[in-house]
Amino acid sequence: MICIWCDQEGAQETVKDCIWIEPGGAFNIVVKEVPAIDCPTCKDVYLEDEMTEEVEEALNSVDLSSLGTEFTYEKLMVSPRLSIFELYKSAK
Ligand SMILES: [Zn+2]
Repeated sequence: MICIWCDQEGAQETVKDCIWIEPGGAFNIVVKEVPAIDCPTCKDVYLEDEMTEEVEEALNSVDLSSLGTEFTYEKLMVSPRLSIFELYKSAK
């Protein structure tokens, strides 16, 4: 596949363990095995913007207290999302 940064062929799909800072900044969350791109030209492994947004949205809508601070991307994606109503309540 083609790297979105350098436009060179040779980028590979891979997975990456990523650290997110909890919105309150109190602790870090480790999301393991997030689908990522490994580019030999850039010598970097990075997430596409859409993937970053997807993970952030999931982190904002799941009950993190039931997941702990370290879990896989797959586990995050299958975790139940709070409804908008519950999110509104918890924001108060
Ligand atoms: Zn590249």
